Amino acid sequence: MSQAGQSWGRYPDAKQSIIAISDRHHGLPATAETILPYGNGRSYGDSCLNDGGVLLHTSHLDRFIRLDVATGVLDCEAGALFSEILDLIVPQGWFLPVTPGTKFVSVGGAIANDVHGKNHHRAGTFGRHVLELELLRSDGSRRVCSATQYPEWFAATIGGLGLTGLITRASIQLRRIASPWMSTEVHRFDDLAGFFQLSESSDRDYEYTVAWIDCAAKGRALGRGLFTRADHAPACPDRRPSAPARHLRVPFVPPISLINPFTLRAFNALYYHRQRQPIVRATTHYEPQFYPLDGIRDWNRIYGPRGFMQYQCVVPPTAAEDCIVRLARIIGSAGGGSFLAVLKQFGALPSPGMLSFPRAGATLALDFPNNGNRTLRLLNELDDVVAASGGAVYPAKDARMSGHRFRQYFPAWESFSQFIDPRFSSSFWRRVME
Ligand SMILES: Cc1cc2nc3c(=O)[nH]c(=O)nc-3n(C[C@H](O)[C@H](O)[C@H](O)COP(=O)(O)OP(=O)(O)OC[C@H]3O[C@@H](n4cnc5c(N)ncnc54)[C@H](O)[C@@H]3O)c2cc1C
Repeated sequence: MSQAGQSWGRYPDAKQSIIAISDRHHGLPATAETILPYGNGRSYGDSCLNDGGVLLHTSHLDRFIRLDVATGVLDCEAGALFSEILDLIVPQGWFLPVTPGTKFVSVGGAIANDVHGKNHHRAGTFGRHVLELELLRSDGSRRVCSATQYPEWFAATIGGLGLTGLITRASIQLRRIASPWMSTEVHRFDDLAGFFQLSESSDRDYEYTVAWIDCAAKGRALGRGLFTRADHAPACPDRRPSAPARHLRVPFVPPISLINPFTLRAFNALYYHRQRQPIVRATTHYEPQFYPLDGIRDWNRIYGPRGFMQYQCVVPPTAAEDCIVRLARIIGSAGGGSFLAVLKQFGALPSPGMLSFPRAGATLALDFPNNGNRTLRLLNELDDVVAASGGAVYPAKDARMSGHRFRQYFPAWESFSQFIDPRFSSSFWRRVME
């Protein structure tokens, strides 16, 4: 589990007091400092931090209020984790409509970042499946918001980075499943053109698509990788769900990052070549399919005491192939690379939040060890390509984009600002508004 008051990238440092919220019927605590809701700290940068202020920790705001097993509508408190929801709903034949690559996120955090998953081309963002939410403001007022009730507050709060008030509870429309199993196919591809071909043909027929790319490969192998496409499987009477996976754990923070150019190249080559056949088909449990990293607790420690930065961008469809090639070349020539490079095409379904990140195009997500100015320079260079294409960078993963870039990526920031609660603030917001 992440330490309360830290983000997943363990960068930057922030000092803040923490107040636990456990009763959704109470008002917000009176404090002299600014406040910010905190879910489970699975954001990588500083959007869940409030240096010098207070975090409202919602881990005890985790009650299930109602599950309608006939319609699949779940009403729960905002601190409930996706992991807890899955334990409740999967045996009842329901699944989350959209899920990010970790199940250790809270409902409030998922709404405030309007998270996306591997089914974006079919289902859009998480916010599209929120039927209503309750927003508690620091003046004690409460608004139950939906697409038809206070729609402008709804649009500001979905993807609203926790700044419009505390979400106390939400109703979510779940998705039916016949079993906890997934039918999966993993295709090896040799270059980025291979990715785009597979993505075009697969997004039509498969619910979940995503690729891992080897960003340490150069020349003709640039952008080679493994493309996964999957669907929920029908019930498999001959197979029982596997026993819960044994969890590994990184027990301490090593004195230096274990991720360096040598380990990166070796990991990427081994990972790419672990699949010898061009296509591998399997039936797997949903856990390793959706949450491969959750099997290693505290994996973020491998980057050592300085932590790491994640960079996730989206570039528009018309510029996608050209931009991704350019980004991969810049990363390759900086000698950095990432051992977790994920590439996917977002679909055209509009995101409901004013500041939602997902929009049509290709999205690339990478992790970089924090090597100070060297890493910052590299990420600024990537920003130049993304901004020139008309794309955007994901605030939930960010610890360093400039205010100028933020305003370029999210032109609705000005209309959004009028919905910010006067007592709410975050390290991220102060940084990009300065
Ligand atoms: C391994 C890994 C994989 C990931 N994969 C994806 C992915 O595929 N897609 C994706 O979109 N994201 C992904 N993420 C990012 C993650 O889904 C988001 O950062 C998510 O918002 C984290 O939720 P949290 O509960 O930890 O919230 P926190 O990180 O604690 O907070 C996130 C934001 O939500 C606000 N917030 C939290 N609770 C409330 C509340 N009750 N009311 C109002 N505001 C609130 C906070 O103020 C903050 O601004 C991934 C993260 C990890 C670590």
